[in-house]
Amino acid sequence: MSNGRPSYEAAQVENERQDAWARRDAFATELPPEGARAIYIKPSSPFTSGNLHMGHVRDYAIGDAYARFRRARGDAVLFGFGFDAFGLPAEMAAIERKVPPAEWVEACGERMLGQMKRLGFSFDYERAFYSSDESQYRWSQWLFLTLLEAGLIYRADTTVDWCDHCRTTLAALQVEDGTCWRCHNEVRLIRRPTWFLRIVPYLEENDRRLAELEASGCWDEISLSTQRYILGRSDGVEVELEGPGGAGLVAFSPHGGAVAEASFVLLSPRHPEVEAFAADPAVREQLDELRSGGWERSARDARSVPLVDTGADALVPWSGAALPVLVSPLVDARYGPTAALGIPAADEADATLAGRAKRVGEGPPLAPGSPPATREAVRYRASDFSISRQRFWGTPIPIVHCEACGPVPVPEEDLPVVLPRDVEPTGEGNPLAELPSFVETSCPRCGEPARRETDTLDCHFDALWLWVPSAVPPAERAERMFTHPDLQRWLPAERLVAGADSGGFVFDQRVVTKALRDIGPFAFMEAGEPFSGCLFHEMVIADGRKMSKHLGNVVDPDELVERYGADTVRLAVLYAAGPAKTLNWNDGALRFAARFLHNLWVYAQDRFAGLAEAPEDPEAAADTEFMRERLAKWCDNGVARITADLEDLQMHKAVRNVTRLFERIQDFEKRVVKRRGALSRADAEAQVAALVLLARTLAPFAPHAAEALLLAAGFDDGPDLPGAWPEQETLTVPV
Ligand SMILES: [Zn+2]
Ligand SMILES: [Zn+2]
Repeated sequence: MSNGRPSYEAAQVENERQDAWARRDAFATELPPEGARAIYIKPSSPFTSGNLHMGHVRDYAIGDAYARFRRARGDAVLFGFGFDAFGLPAEMAAIERKVPPAEWVEACGERMLGQMKRLGFSFDYERAFYSSDESQYRWSQWLFLTLLEAGLIYRADTTVDWCDHCRTTLAALQVEDGTCWRCHNEVRLIRRPTWFLRIVPYLEENDRRLAELEASGCWDEISLSTQRYILGRSDGVEVELEGPGGAGLVAFSPHGGAVAEASFVLLSPRHPEVEAFAADPAVREQLDELRSGGWERSARDARSVPLVDTGADALVPWSGAALPVLVSPLVDARYGPTAALGIPAADEADATLAGRAKRVGEGPPLAPGSPPATREAVRYRASDFSISRQRFWGTPIPIVHCEACGPVPVPEEDLPVVLPRDVEPTGEGNPLAELPSFVETSCPRCGEPARRETDTLDCHFDALWLWVPSAVPPAERAERMFTHPDLQRWLPAERLVAGADSGGFVFDQRVVTKALRDIGPFAFMEAGEPFSGCLFHEMVIADGRKMSKHLGNVVDPDELVERYGADTVRLAVLYAAGPAKTLNWNDGALRFAARFLHNLWVYAQDRFAGLAEAPEDPEAAADTEFMRERLAKWCDNGVARITADLEDLQMHKAVRNVTRLFERIQDFEKRVVKRRGALSRADAEAQVAALVLLARTLAPFAPHAAEALLLAAGFDDGPDLPGAWPEQETLTVPV
């Protein structure tokens, strides 16, 4: 029936729709009236790398489909994000290009925003922000001070890699085979004071709340399992032993039934009482070596993990047995900074360690014959982590070091501590430490000359609250952030859509939300959970391997959009695999999506244009009434399925069901033509109504084509496009 109508011109259609959206500010966030449903959909926060990759396209295509679906259902939707703009990759890229990182980040962000708009993602772009903007990081500094005051940030020594030649500490990313990335000289480990975030007080609640999140049905299996993995919970028992000088020592074991067979005690090097067991100077030396030897990066295998015999014993009070006490970071890797019973008979790793320690196995086991007094206990592997880096491109830590007063917090009214924007780091030294204009200040407490902290915050710290700013109108962010009343409308976010590698960020965001609830600003979030729902998707690979420039298998979204159009790329990414599966990119899904859009476009245009010519024929209409009823039923079922798929964010299923509905509509026509030779007016009207409905269900996935089809069907261009989501009860195709 095609009468030579032009094929689907993606670029033209998409440009027109994007212009129309921009003209009417289609995705501006509106705060809903009191009591109405407000839904915040949080996509992942991109690093300002300069290019969207296919993983971003997957993330945003899922989030955008969900956002458009919820808008069509009448919900007020906030769909916004900010750039995770601080950090080492941006600093290294800027060093390579010899430009200030601020300049590089801005250029990258602009480019990425352009790519997102070209793909038609319906973000509220007015709310986009950069974590490296002064107006943003002043609140990172506020958060630092607030957590510091609450005792959730502390300073302790840790080991870091150091390059003597470049006079700088190095991140793991900058150490290549033990040498410096910049000068290739050997790197050594040094100890230096570092700031830590205390998360241990919230581990138990993060664990407990996980059951509630699971029960809600809004957290998918991948996101739940990442949270469990990071938590690293072990269930077992603990017993009271006696350390040197009669001090108590609580030891844990996951092998509740076998504690009587314990033959040694294994202490974490970070155990608070470890010093008591290291009275011997030789042992102390070994312990120091173990701590400064970078054990965090060392092998965690029981055969090679560092192991120190303290020479001291722990006494079993009720049997008088003495258990040798060993120290090893293997405890941390399994149960966190605690003490564990070594039970070679029940535990393979313990057996391996026992084989390496001379003293083990010489004495009697813990309590031969008599049941020891145990109580149920839980240990978590997750623990406090360092948040400061000796890097330039990060949030300055709002601390002043005074000789008389020690580290003094910068008063809130003096925030932000501004990071100079025109500095070009070279990778040598610490640029902030070498800027007298930055370093030299006076002590906020005593007024004497003092020095600013020159470490900056790791961008993981900025990410702790990167989900908050979108919910605050941009013009008001300088004045109020964590106490802005809009937060109470939008938070917790209804859904987080992010890559499966975001589990660590989410875990720590869940901790900080609980901390801010207890401190006050987030008291309205009783559960202390930032996200009511969460969908984690796997990555996009090519040829069965991770995409990399080195392998030459990088798929460039720009090239695909240029060639096939945004809607085809979006449909293909969604259709190719469910979120829980790694998407192995291939052209098959692209060809499928391109063919579908083209066929639907030509087919629907013909039917819309031909409607007026369909003859009124009451006799024929009566004869095909049962067919129109069947079409209505198909539409009903199709919409029910697509709706359920969208509610679950299973977009691959939803897209499949959209394409099936199109097949049904074509099938209807074939059957009527077979029976009557042609469509009567009643049949043609029913078919057009079904095509309109189909366009509305297509709109979340291929919004440009869907709206253009609705325009072709005679709807007005304006804020009512693409129209309300077809609800089942309103689905009456004219019969
Ligand atoms: Zn170097
Ligand atoms: Zn002072």
